[in-house]
Amino acid sequence: MKLSQLRFECISMLITGGIERPFYVVDIILSKILEIDRALLIAKDEMEIPAQKCEGILSMVEKRVNRVPLSYILGEAEFYGRPFEVGEGCLIPRPETELLVEELLSACPNAVRFADWCTGSGCIGITLLLENDNLTGIGVDSNPQALNWATLNTKKYDLESRFSLMLNSDPAFCEIEPKSLDFIAANPPYIPSKDLNNLMSDVKDHEPMEALDGGDDGADVYRLLFSRLPLFLKNGGILAFEIGGDEQSKLLESIAPEDLVRRNKIFDYSGKIRHLTWQKNLQ
Ligand code: GLN
Repeated sequence: MKLSQLRFECISMLITGGIERPFYVVDIILSKILEIDRALLIAKDEMEIPAQKCEGILSMVEKRVNRVPLSYILGEAEFYGRPFEVGEGCLIPRPETELLVEELLSACPNAVRFADWCTGSGCIGITLLLENDNLTGIGVDSNPQALNWATLNTKKYDLESRFSLMLNSDPAFCEIEPKSLDFIAANPPYIPSKDLNNLMSDVKDHEPMEALDGGDDGADVYRLLFSRLPLFLKNGGILAFEIGGDEQSKLLESIAPEDLVRRNKIFDYSGKIRHLTWQKNLQ
């Protein structure tokens, strides 16, 4: 089949399926599978695509029609300008999470050791390590499937000696030295259970529920983390959470333990409070 015809068929499938940005989706898939730069696809209209490749491409498009997220179909998502391997079982890194990394890099320039709680693909921890050579870190997650992705990404960036991964669902049973960390970052599940149904099918039917569902008021995991994580921080250490917005910010300020002092609020691209940081008392 000629590339022009294949492209036309893919776009028709996506439009019929009601998929947003059909031209973008198809060009990303074609360029990945055919290994042709996206901008050059248009000049290759007459190129004959072998049947097997056509089948592969059409089945990827079919997956997208079934609302499988594009990042899972490609097996890759970009975070902080770098590719991360992703698939079922780990949350797809979101652009607003990059702001949490930026904040920690500027707030903790002299840090040497950190933890990335609910590490998922490992995108936060790995990016911090790649941006600051003095750091070593621990990536923690309660889901073994997510840790498989974090392991792949740790290897991809040759960080095995600087990023250790830990399976843990309750920080009360976690072998991290008390007062050993300069900061802890976490992007925990924070969507109130009753709101999960309003999420788009791409998210709620494909991304892991344990990475999204924050319980009745969305703060179940924050409560768990607040109860233990400060113990692992050095005095003056920083705790940084991604959060669900202004309302959740108020809730978290009201449940934060007394030995933490609120430090910074970071707004996302739509003007919502997206990250909160606290500092552990210096004494
Ligand atoms: N830390 C990962 C991310 O920010 C995964 C977060 C999660 O699973 N809730 O994308």
